[in-house]
Amino acid sequence: MQKTRKTIRGLAAISLLMLLLSNHLTAGDEPAFRIGNIVAEQGSIASGYLEVPSGPDGTTSIPLTIVNGAKSGPVLAVFAGIHGSEYAPVMALQSFRSEIDPAHLSGVVIIVQVANLPSFLGRAIYYSPIDRKNPNSTFPGKLDGTMTERISYVLTNQVVERADYLVDIHAGEANEALVPYVAYSADAVDPAVAQKSEQMAIAFGFPIVKKLSGRPKDPAASASLSNTGVTRGKPTIGIESGQLGERDGESVSRIDRGIWRSVQKLDLLENAGNDRSGYAIGRC
Ligand SMILES: [Zn+2]
Repeated sequence: MQKTRKTIRGLAAISLLMLLLSNHLTAGDEPAFRIGNIVAEQGSIASGYLEVPSGPDGTTSIPLTIVNGAKSGPVLAVFAGIHGSEYAPVMALQSFRSEIDPAHLSGVVIIVQVANLPSFLGRAIYYSPIDRKNPNSTFPGKLDGTMTERISYVLTNQVVERADYLVDIHAGEANEALVPYVAYSADAVDPAVAQKSEQMAIAFGFPIVKKLSGRPKDPAASASLSNTGVTRGKPTIGIESGQLGERDGESVSRIDRGIWRSVQKLDLLENAGNDRSGYAIGRC
Protein backbone atom coordinates (compact mmCIF):
# COMPACT_ATOMS: atom_id res chain seq x y z
CA MET A 1 0.00 0.00 0.00
CA GLN A 2 2.78 2.37 1.02
CA LYS A 3 4.56 1.58 -2.24
CA THR A 4 1.36 2.26 -4.24
CA ARG A 5 0.91 5.68 -2.59
CA LYS A 6 4.50 6.58 -3.43
CA THR A 7 3.96 5.50 -7.01
CA ILE A 8 0.80 7.60 -7.29
CA ARG A 9 2.57 10.61 -5.77
CA GLY A 10 5.43 10.07 -8.22
CA LEU A 11 3.05 9.93 -11.19
CA ALA A 12 1.29 13.08 -9.95
CA ALA A 13 4.60 14.91 -9.71
CA ILE A 14 5.51 13.87 -13.25
CA SER A 15 2.08 14.97 -14.52
CA LEU A 16 2.48 18.36 -12.81
CA LEU A 17 5.94 18.76 -14.35
CA MET A 18 4.59 17.93 -17.82
CA LEU A 19 1.72 20.41 -17.33
CA LEU A 20 4.16 23.14 -16.33
CA LEU A 21 6.34 22.35 -19.32
CA SER A 22 3.36 22.34 -21.72
CA ASN A 23 2.18 25.67 -20.28
CA HIS A 24 5.65 27.08 -20.71
CA LEU A 25 5.65 26.13 -24.41
CA THR A 26 2.14 27.39 -25.18
CA ALA A 27 1.82 29.04 -28.60
CA GLY A 28 2.68 32.74 -28.32
CA ASP A 29 5.10 32.14 -25.49
CA GLU A 30 8.18 32.27 -27.65
CA PRO A 31 11.52 31.39 -26.11
CA ALA A 32 14.05 34.01 -25.16
CA PHE A 33 17.21 34.36 -27.24
CA ARG A 34 20.34 33.71 -25.20
CA ILE A 35 24.05 34.12 -25.92
CA GLY A 36 26.26 33.41 -22.91
CA ASN A 37 24.72 35.27 -19.98
CA ILE A 38 22.89 37.77 -22.21
CA VAL A 39 19.20 36.94 -22.49
CA ALA A 40 16.68 38.92 -24.58
CA GLU A 41 13.05 38.02 -24.09
CA GLN A 42 10.75 38.04 -27.10
CA GLY A 43 10.16 41.67 -28.14
CA SER A 44 13.00 43.14 -26.09
CA ILE A 45 16.63 44.26 -26.19
CA ALA A 46 19.39 42.98 -23.91
CA SER A 47 23.03 44.03 -23.73
CA GLY A 48 25.97 42.62 -21.85
CA TYR A 49 29.43 41.16 -22.12
CA LEU A 50 30.14 37.79 -23.68
CA GLU A 51 32.95 36.22 -21.69
CA VAL A 52 36.04 34.95 -23.49
CA PRO A 53 37.75 32.09 -21.60
CA SER A 54 40.88 33.27 -19.83
CA GLY A 55 44.33 32.03 -20.75
CA PRO A 56 47.97 32.66 -19.84
CA ASP A 57 47.80 35.99 -21.69
CA GLY A 58 44.79 37.29 -19.75
CA THR A 59 41.06 37.60 -20.12
CA THR A 60 38.60 39.76 -22.02
CA SER A 61 34.96 39.98 -23.03
CA ILE A 62 32.89 41.06 -26.01
CA PRO A 63 30.24 43.82 -25.66
CA LEU A 64 27.14 42.56 -27.40
CA THR A 65 23.45 43.43 -27.82
CA ILE A 66 20.61 41.09 -28.74
CA VAL A 67 17.53 42.65 -30.35
CA ASN A 68 14.89 39.94 -30.13
CA GLY A 69 11.90 40.82 -32.28
CA ALA A 70 8.28 40.52 -31.23
CA LYS A 71 7.86 37.98 -34.01
CA SER A 72 10.10 35.10 -34.98
CA GLY A 73 12.22 35.21 -38.13
CA PRO A 74 15.82 35.05 -39.37
CA VAL A 75 18.88 35.89 -37.28
CA LEU A 76 21.18 38.62 -38.59
CA ALA A 77 24.55 39.21 -36.90
CA VAL A 78 26.39 42.52 -37.44
CA PHE A 79 29.96 42.99 -36.29
CA ALA A 80 32.20 46.01 -35.67
CA GLY A 81 35.67 46.28 -34.14
CA ILE A 82 37.39 43.19 -35.46
CA HIS A 83 40.32 45.58 -35.95
CA GLY A 84 41.30 48.10 -33.29
CA SER A 85 41.16 51.58 -34.87
CA GLU A 86 38.09 51.32 -37.10
CA TYR A 87 35.72 53.70 -35.34
CA ALA A 88 32.97 54.53 -37.86
CA PRO A 89 31.53 50.96 -37.71
CA VAL A 90 31.46 51.01 -33.89
CA MET A 91 29.57 54.32 -33.90
CA ALA A 92 27.20 53.13 -36.63
CA LEU A 93 26.18 50.13 -34.55
CA GLN A 94 25.54 52.43 -31.59
CA SER A 95 23.23 54.50 -33.83
CA PHE A 96 21.46 51.42 -35.12
CA ARG A 97 21.09 50.09 -31.56
CA SER A 98 19.35 53.31 -30.50
CA GLU A 99 17.00 53.29 -33.51
CA ILE A 100 15.83 49.68 -33.79
CA ASP A 101 12.55 48.83 -32.09
CA PRO A 102 12.08 45.12 -31.34
CA ALA A 103 8.30 45.61 -31.38
CA HIS A 104 8.53 45.91 -35.17
CA LEU A 105 11.17 43.25 -35.76
CA SER A 106 10.50 39.75 -37.08
CA GLY A 107 13.60 37.84 -36.11
CA VAL A 108 16.76 38.65 -34.17
CA VAL A 109 19.61 41.09 -34.73
CA ILE A 110 22.83 40.32 -32.85
CA ILE A 111 24.98 43.46 -32.56
CA VAL A 112 28.63 42.76 -31.77
CA GLN A 113 29.63 46.25 -30.68
CA VAL A 114 33.40 45.73 -30.43
CA ALA A 115 34.54 42.28 -31.50
CA ASN A 116 38.17 42.64 -30.37
CA LEU A 117 38.23 44.73 -27.21
CA PRO A 118 41.99 44.39 -26.50
CA SER A 119 42.80 45.86 -29.93
CA PHE A 120 40.19 48.63 -29.52
CA LEU A 121 41.40 49.62 -26.04
CA GLY A 122 45.03 49.38 -27.22
CA ARG A 123 44.24 51.64 -30.24
CA ALA A 124 46.03 49.03 -32.31
CA ILE A 125 46.12 48.78 -36.10
CA TYR A 126 45.77 45.37 -37.80
CA TYR A 127 47.37 43.31 -35.00
CA SER A 128 46.31 42.67 -31.41
CA PRO A 129 48.62 44.30 -28.85
CA ILE A 130 48.36 41.11 -26.76
CA ASP A 131 49.59 38.44 -29.18
CA ARG A 132 50.44 40.39 -32.36
CA LYS A 133 47.92 38.39 -34.39
CA ASN A 134 45.56 39.78 -37.02
CA PRO A 135 42.07 38.56 -36.02
CA ASN A 136 41.19 37.97 -39.65
CA SER A 137 43.80 35.24 -39.92
CA THR A 138 42.75 33.36 -36.77
CA PHE A 139 39.21 32.10 -37.52
CA PRO A 140 37.51 29.83 -36.59
CA GLY A 141 39.73 30.25 -33.54
CA LYS A 142 41.03 27.97 -30.78
CA LEU A 143 39.62 27.50 -27.29
CA ASP A 144 43.14 26.84 -25.94
CA GLY A 145 44.86 29.40 -28.18
CA THR A 146 46.14 32.92 -27.64
CA MET A 147 43.86 35.86 -26.82
CA THR A 148 42.93 36.63 -30.44
CA GLU A 149 42.37 32.95 -31.22
CA ARG A 150 40.08 32.59 -28.19
CA ILE A 151 38.07 35.68 -29.20
CA SER A 152 37.66 34.19 -32.69
CA TYR A 153 36.58 30.88 -31.16
CA VAL A 154 33.86 32.56 -29.09
CA LEU A 155 32.66 34.66 -32.04
CA THR A 156 32.49 31.57 -34.27
CA ASN A 157 30.73 29.27 -31.85
CA GLN A 158 28.46 31.67 -29.98
CA VAL A 159 27.58 34.22 -32.68
CA VAL A 160 28.31 32.97 -36.21
CA GLU A 161 26.80 29.55 -35.52
CA ARG A 162 23.61 31.21 -34.20
CA ALA A 163 23.12 33.49 -37.20
CA ASP A 164 21.53 33.00 -40.62
CA TYR A 165 23.16 36.09 -42.18
CA LEU A 166 26.34 38.03 -41.35
CA VAL A 167 27.49 41.62 -41.94
CA ASP A 168 31.15 42.18 -40.97
CA ILE A 169 31.85 45.92 -40.84
CA HIS A 170 35.30 47.50 -41.15
CA ALA A 171 36.92 50.82 -42.04
CA GLY A 172 40.41 51.90 -43.06
CA GLU A 173 42.60 51.68 -39.96
CA ALA A 174 44.14 54.78 -38.32
CA ASN A 175 46.95 54.76 -40.90
CA GLU A 176 44.83 53.73 -43.89
CA ALA A 177 42.93 55.76 -46.48
CA LEU A 178 40.11 53.81 -48.09
CA VAL A 179 37.09 54.36 -50.32
CA PRO A 180 33.92 52.70 -49.08
CA TYR A 181 32.89 49.38 -50.62
CA VAL A 182 30.96 46.18 -49.98
CA ALA A 183 32.54 42.76 -50.63
CA TYR A 184 31.16 39.28 -50.88
CA SER A 185 32.65 35.89 -51.69
CA ALA A 186 31.82 34.05 -54.88
CA ASP A 187 33.47 30.91 -53.47
CA ALA A 188 30.64 29.47 -51.38
CA VAL A 189 30.30 25.71 -51.82
CA ASP A 190 26.54 26.23 -52.12
CA PRO A 191 25.86 28.56 -55.08
CA ALA A 192 22.70 29.78 -53.35
CA VAL A 193 24.86 31.19 -50.53
CA ALA A 194 27.00 33.14 -53.01
CA GLN A 195 23.89 34.38 -54.79
CA LYS A 196 22.21 35.54 -51.58
CA SER A 197 25.49 37.19 -50.47
CA GLU A 198 25.60 39.10 -53.76
CA GLN A 199 22.00 40.24 -53.28
CA MET A 200 22.81 41.42 -49.74
CA ALA A 201 25.91 43.24 -51.03
CA ILE A 202 23.94 45.12 -53.68
CA ALA A 203 21.13 45.90 -51.23
CA PHE A 204 23.58 47.53 -48.77
CA GLY A 205 23.59 50.41 -51.23
CA PHE A 206 27.26 51.36 -51.70
CA PRO A 207 28.48 52.40 -55.19
CA ILE A 208 31.29 49.81 -55.22
CA VAL A 209 30.60 46.07 -54.78
CA LYS A 210 33.62 43.73 -54.91
CA LYS A 211 33.29 40.07 -55.80
CA LEU A 212 36.01 38.13 -53.99
CA SER A 213 37.42 34.76 -54.94
CA GLY A 214 40.23 32.46 -53.83
CA ARG A 215 39.18 32.39 -50.19
CA PRO A 216 39.79 29.17 -48.16
CA LYS A 217 36.97 26.64 -48.51
CA ASP A 218 37.79 24.61 -45.38
CA PRO A 219 35.53 25.63 -42.44
CA ALA A 220 38.31 24.52 -40.07
CA ALA A 221 40.71 27.04 -41.65
CA SER A 222 38.38 29.86 -42.64
CA ALA A 223 40.88 32.59 -41.62
CA SER A 224 38.57 35.65 -41.63
CA LEU A 225 35.26 36.30 -39.90
CA SER A 226 33.45 36.80 -43.21
CA ASN A 227 34.80 33.58 -44.63
CA THR A 228 33.80 31.76 -41.44
CA GLY A 229 30.22 32.64 -42.30
CA VAL A 230 30.56 31.64 -45.95
CA THR A 231 32.22 28.29 -45.20
CA ARG A 232 29.36 27.51 -42.80
CA GLY A 233 26.74 28.14 -45.44
CA LYS A 234 25.62 31.57 -44.24
CA PRO A 235 25.23 34.45 -46.70
CA THR A 236 27.78 37.07 -45.63
CA ILE A 237 29.02 40.50 -46.68
CA GLY A 238 32.02 42.58 -45.64
CA ILE A 239 31.74 46.37 -45.39
CA GLU A 240 34.42 49.09 -45.52
CA SER A 241 33.36 52.64 -44.60
CA GLY A 242 35.57 55.20 -42.89
CA GLN A 243 39.31 55.74 -42.74
CA LEU A 244 42.31 57.17 -40.90
CA GLY A 245 40.81 56.76 -37.42
CA GLU A 246 38.14 59.36 -38.24
CA ARG A 247 34.56 59.36 -37.00
CA ASP A 248 33.00 61.49 -39.74
CA GLY A 249 29.24 61.55 -39.90
CA GLU A 250 28.89 60.37 -43.48
CA SER A 251 31.03 57.24 -42.94
CA VAL A 252 28.89 56.41 -39.90
CA SER A 253 25.48 57.12 -41.43
CA ARG A 254 26.42 55.30 -44.65
CA ILE A 255 26.81 52.11 -42.57
CA ASP A 256 23.68 52.79 -40.53
CA ARG A 257 21.61 53.20 -43.70
CA GLY A 258 23.09 49.99 -45.11
CA ILE A 259 22.13 47.96 -42.02
CA TRP A 260 18.56 49.25 -42.28
CA ARG A 261 18.52 48.20 -45.92
CA SER A 262 19.78 44.76 -44.85
CA VAL A 263 17.05 44.21 -42.28
CA GLN A 264 14.48 45.22 -44.87
CA LYS A 265 16.05 43.04 -47.56
CA LEU A 266 16.07 40.02 -45.28
CA ASP A 267 12.41 40.55 -44.28
CA LEU A 268 13.20 41.23 -40.62
CA LEU A 269 11.26 44.45 -40.44
CA GLU A 270 7.62 45.21 -39.88
CA ASN A 271 6.53 48.60 -41.14
CA ALA A 272 4.53 50.38 -38.45
CA GLY A 273 6.49 52.84 -36.35
CA ASN A 274 9.77 51.93 -37.98
CA ASP A 275 9.37 53.61 -41.31
CA ARG A 276 12.73 53.31 -43.03
CA SER A 277 11.12 53.08 -46.45
CA GLY A 278 13.62 55.58 -47.82
CA TYR A 279 16.29 52.93 -47.43
CA ALA A 280 14.43 50.20 -49.31
CA ILE A 281 15.85 49.48 -52.73
CA GLY A 282 14.08 46.30 -53.75
CA ARG A 283 13.70 42.73 -52.61
CA CYS A 284 15.59 39.52 -53.22
ZN1 LIG B 1 39.35 45.87 -40.50
